[in-house]
Amino acid sequence: MMRALQLTEPGVLELREVPIPRIGPTDLLLRVGAAGICHSDLHVLHIPFRMREEPLTLGHEIAGTIEAVGDGVDGRRPGERGIVYLCWSCGVCRECAAGNENVCLAAGRTAMPPCPGLGPDGGMADYVRVPASSFVPIGDLDFAEAAPLADAALSSYHAIRDARDRLGPGSVAVVVGIGGLGHLAVQILAATTAATVLAVDVSAEKLELAARCGAAEGLVASGGTASEILARTGGRGADAVFDFVGVDATARLAVDSVAPNGAYRMVGLGGGAPEITAAPATGAGWPWGATVRKTYGGTRSDLIDSVALAAAGKLRAEVERYPLAEGRAAVDRLERGLVTGRAVLVPEP
Ligand SMILES: [Zn+2]
Ligand SMILES: [Zn+2]
Repeated sequence: MMRALQLTEPGVLELREVPIPRIGPTDLLLRVGAAGICHSDLHVLHIPFRMREEPLTLGHEIAGTIEAVGDGVDGRRPGERGIVYLCWSCGVCRECAAGNENVCLAAGRTAMPPCPGLGPDGGMADYVRVPASSFVPIGDLDFAEAAPLADAALSSYHAIRDARDRLGPGSVAVVVGIGGLGHLAVQILAATTAATVLAVDVSAEKLELAARCGAAEGLVASGGTASEILARTGGRGADAVFDFVGVDATARLAVDSVAPNGAYRMVGLGGGAPEITAAPATGAGWPWGATVRKTYGGTRSDLIDSVALAAAGKLRAEVERYPLAEGRAAVDRLERGLVTGRAVLVPEP
């Protein structure tokens, strides 16, 4: 038997004793080293119906050690350390074949590919079953610092890579929301682009975190933030705006502060509705040539790149560590906006 943090009813998380998962021929059994807590776990917690009949173990940011290897798996052995690529996609559709497993067509037009902790059982447990193909080695990286690479870094890296052609010398990038993803996005921008980074958050403490991560300046979010960004860019606007919040106010900020031909990338799933109109751009509003993209997760190569940045010492998650048994309390802290960086559950006491 093992412990697992499970969603038993809408809004109810319980630490339960459950059987250690059985693995199939193409699977691995991981002994969990750490599991990150994501805002999407809060969404799942508050879905007003049961996602599946039996209780669901949460956790899609998983780091751990291989405990057992399925009979049909070549090239992996017990004792290897790694993290889990979270898109458990079909692998053969047109998008998967092109490397875009984060938008696997088998999942449907607007759904997400199967993901641990959001269908299959996740990693907030002592052990987790994962497809062997999802395993990405991490060498000797710390488990708690590596777990957030699986989603927080992956999703940030994916959004930034897609906008990198806008972020040459002299460019300005805005990161909105310095949480689990945003603080890594600032580091990824610093490591992989020439952009000057402006951080935006409602919390002065989180702007301090952004400064430690490489942001040139922090702006406390207010009604005047778009004007502040325009003032710092000679009226041009930001070459890229990465919104890790995604509510109406941040969507409006992005529309009003992105440069002509700039990139607005929606990563946070706050349900915000940007007002992008087909009208001449005069003063405030959507400028000529700007692009908007709603991004989900990232590709397998984005994850491998993120691990490489971490291994090179250029990307490091700031983490708060909690024992698995205190998972509920850690989730509550995230919900109240009190977490600095990423909260991570560590099964070992
Ligand atoms: Zn997530
Ligand atoms: Zn596919």
